[in-house]
Amino acid sequence: MTTPFGPSYVREIAPYVAGKPISEVAREFGLDEARIVKLASNENPLGVPESAQRAIAQAAAELGRYPDSNAFELKAALAARYDVPAEWITLGNGSNDILEIAAHACVERGQSIVYSQYSFAGYALATQGLGARHRVTPAVQYGHDLDAMLAAIADDTRLVFVANPNNPTGTFIDGAALEAFIARVPADVVVVLDEAYTEYLAADKRYDSIEWVRRYPNLVVSRTFSKAYGLAGLRIGFAIAQPALTDLLNRLRQPFNVNTLAQAAAVAALGDTAYLEKSAALNAEGYRTLTAAFERMGLEYVPSDGNFVLVRVGQDDAAGDRVNLELLRQGVIVRPVGGYGLPQWLRVTIGLADENAAFIAALERSLAPG
Ligand SMILES: *Cc1c(COP(=O)(O)O)cnc(C)c1O
Repeated sequence: MTTPFGPSYVREIAPYVAGKPISEVAREFGLDEARIVKLASNENPLGVPESAQRAIAQAAAELGRYPDSNAFELKAALAARYDVPAEWITLGNGSNDILEIAAHACVERGQSIVYSQYSFAGYALATQGLGARHRVTPAVQYGHDLDAMLAAIADDTRLVFVANPNNPTGTFIDGAALEAFIARVPADVVVVLDEAYTEYLAADKRYDSIEWVRRYPNLVVSRTFSKAYGLAGLRIGFAIAQPALTDLLNRLRQPFNVNTLAQAAAVAALGDTAYLEKSAALNAEGYRTLTAAFERMGLEYVPSDGNFVLVRVGQDDAAGDRVNLELLRQGVIVRPVGGYGLPQWLRVTIGLADENAAFIAALERSLAPG
């Protein structure tokens, strides 16, 4: 018998199942890469904004040196955009890094973190990686039950994760309800409000969480360049919080966690409002197409405010994996969510019009009897 390495809470971590890469599906199913449609990881189907591509090309010449650890230009751009001092900003290697940094900065082994059933997988992982206690509240209609989350906050709770909109369900909490929740969370419990999809919100659903940061010293608002800004591969996200909390996060952050190309690309993308508007419009149109198809096919789906939709593809717990395999054979990659406790469902990212059409056609074939 060999002695196992590491603490038991690390050994118990289930490996993360990412959306399959195109190249892997091409190899496994003998398909042409160019014909594969990937709607699995909530990436922006428009690809890297051209403004960011130009910035990346320019910044490449500087790669012999370490990145600017303090990301002066990007923090200045974010500070101007959100009207906060640069001292309120923490940068992350993706917003996933922000979630990890916040958990490590605020919680120790044996203390607890509150989050909802069916919320982003990163919350369970960050909790487990710390040897912290999970306090998971049951979802209501696939979304967060804020009253249950408040009630779940115990003496040992140091942090609460809230995703709005949530992934993988796409559910949304309106601003008034969310602020009322934040106001009631004890002052010594940090709220990480994960707004990875906020740029996709319709105008009538928007709310100003940065304004809340000014009022609540225990609030961290987390955002990303991976989704609406089209820079998932560069790994860059950021957090806005008051200086006391931001200082703590920045002490724990790896000094060079955001690379030179990511910093340059993010500055460009942040200023590219045309790209952002185009992305949101394309998404809204694709959402209408997909949900109309689901209705036509008699499939239940969860109304979504993100760039993806959760759709129920069968009534048995093998349905998600079965239909996923049928889709893969036809060169369509979506995201099975059995790991989230949703084995009858698939999550599909809203793509370009022809990608959505290819998915719908493949789904119809997958569900056809016989
Ligand atoms: C995608 C996602 C993230 C993480 O994205 P990064 O690429 O690490 O910025 C965080 N939270 C939610 C809810 C997400 O869907």
